[in-house]
Amino acid sequence: MIYIAEVFLYLLVFMAGAGIFSFLNVVIYRLPRKISFVTGRSHCPACDATLRWYDMVPVFNWFYLRGKCRDCGAHISFRYPAVEALGGVLALLCVYRFGMEAEAFAAFAFLGVLTVVAFVDADTMEIPNGLVIGILIIAVVAGICALAPAWKDRLIGLVCVSVPMLLITLAIPGAFGGGDIKLMAAAGLFLGWKLCLVATFLAILTGGLYGIWLLATRKKGKKEHFAFGPFLCVGMAVALFWGEQLLEWYLGLYHF
Ligand SMILES: [Zn+2]
Repeated sequence: MIYIAEVFLYLLVFMAGAGIFSFLNVVIYRLPRKISFVTGRSHCPACDATLRWYDMVPVFNWFYLRGKCRDCGAHISFRYPAVEALGGVLALLCVYRFGMEAEAFAAFAFLGVLTVVAFVDADTMEIPNGLVIGILIIAVVAGICALAPAWKDRLIGLVCVSVPMLLITLAIPGAFGGGDIKLMAAAGLFLGWKLCLVATFLAILTGGLYGIWLLATRKKGKKEHFAFGPFLCVGMAVALFWGEQLLEWYLGLYHF
């Protein structure tokens, strides 16, 4: 019986995460278009029909409707259920990594804002200041609640990546976007300097490989840019869950 209760609890955590990320879908769509995401119910972008309450069951509803609007049959992007499922998986990972503790809620809030940053940056090549401020607030609240890491590590995190990025950009204009630099300052304050460095290393590694792939397949020229924010966000998510292990493993390579 305990086993069934556990499965039910995990399903509940997944659905809660998916439900919250269902709202983030709205934010990702409306923020760059400067539409309020607090007022107005969700509607189909093609026919304007308001979504019914029973159409708002995360993830499953999209498959039930086979990716089409119930009213006009317009194709609904697979991104919507994918973001919802991501929210569910991230919620489960937070509980798995931090337990049912305040750390899990802080991490989930941080990952929620990162998800919006990643998609908005990929869509528009810009990171709105409001999202950076959101991360700052989460970091300060986590610090005040005495969650790990300690304030000293947070304050070093604020500058350890953002300042070098700023200096590089002053030397080589356009090396990093202003949004990326502000993002890494705010996120560094949340993660602390250790995880912030791990995240940046992962982002440069994966973003670099992506850049090489773009050049090799001639999808973009040498002078063109691609959004680096999504790589930073994925790097931070990986660092948040497995950064400590990655560091131990990496430092262990030097213990003969
Ligand atoms: Zn429609």
